[in-house]
Amino acid sequence: MELKDKVVVITGGGQGLGRQMALRLAAKGAKLALIDLNQEKLDETVALVAEAGSEARSYIANVADEAQVESTFAQIADNFGRIDGLVNNAGITRDGLFIKAKEGKVVQKMSLEHWQQVIDVNLTGVFLCAREAAAHMIEGNTQGVIINISSISRSGNMGQTNYTAAKAGVANMAVTWAKELSRYGIRVAAVAPGFIETDMTAGMKPEALEKVCSVIPMKRLGLPDEIAHSVEYIMENDYFTGRVIECDGGLRI
Ligand code: NAP
Repeated sequence: MELKDKVVVITGGGQGLGRQMALRLAAKGAKLALIDLNQEKLDETVALVAEAGSEARSYIANVADEAQVESTFAQIADNFGRIDGLVNNAGITRDGLFIKAKEGKVVQKMSLEHWQQVIDVNLTGVFLCAREAAAHMIEGNTQGVIINISSISRSGNMGQTNYTAAKAGVANMAVTWAKELSRYGIRVAAVAPGFIETDMTAGMKPEALEKVCSVIPMKRLGLPDEIAHSVEYIMENDYFTGRVIECDGGLRI
């Protein structure tokens, strides 16, 4: 897909990886519809996109809320006249051990609340946004592209039962949707980042971060623009569908 003048929706576009994706795609002439929960951060991204020479609009919506997602995508289609791309990037973590015991006594369990919060945003949110984007692409006769942001953690990572379940889910939903939607000319794929320099990793303990870097073959965290580059590649390569790009510096967890 040639990105010039295409309309791409990015969830969680207010900061971090979503913001960097917006800037990279804007530099290629794409127009951005940015969904997030924080108006201030969205305003900053919109201004940066304008500096990069393109246009963006912001939309406040919770990706886990069906009614909000439906009305937001309808609004985007109305504002821009089309939807060509979606990056399902919004995500949260609520890390904790599945179960923790000391001297044979259980002292901690992952709460249902933390399980559900992550599943709601990282899995259900992706399902809802992709469904609405695909519906608008089909009705608008657009040969669109949908990208789910998964994670290296999808293979299983200690302390992330909820997150790994969701990230494995979004990677596999991309494969299913690629098979189902190819008949409409829609491509679907996923990107599984390793550990990237963002607020999400800034929240990790320094010792944990140092330990992670020591086992990454590239010996450093990834940069947000290196993930945005993978997104741009999928958007532009018309034969890429149903696969996951692993952009993780060679790390296996
Ligand atoms: P981030 O800095 O925390 O940004 C995520 C954005 O999503 C925030 O702006 C957040 O808004 C928004 N968001 C959260 N819940 C939302 C909801 N229910 N509805 C709408 N927007 C919502 O995260 P990031 O590091 O850029 O990560 C982006 C994606 O990459 C996530 O899916 C993450 O799991 C994945 N990933 C990241 C890394 C990494 O190392 N950073 C590695 C692998 C995968 P608020 O802040 O206002 O809540």
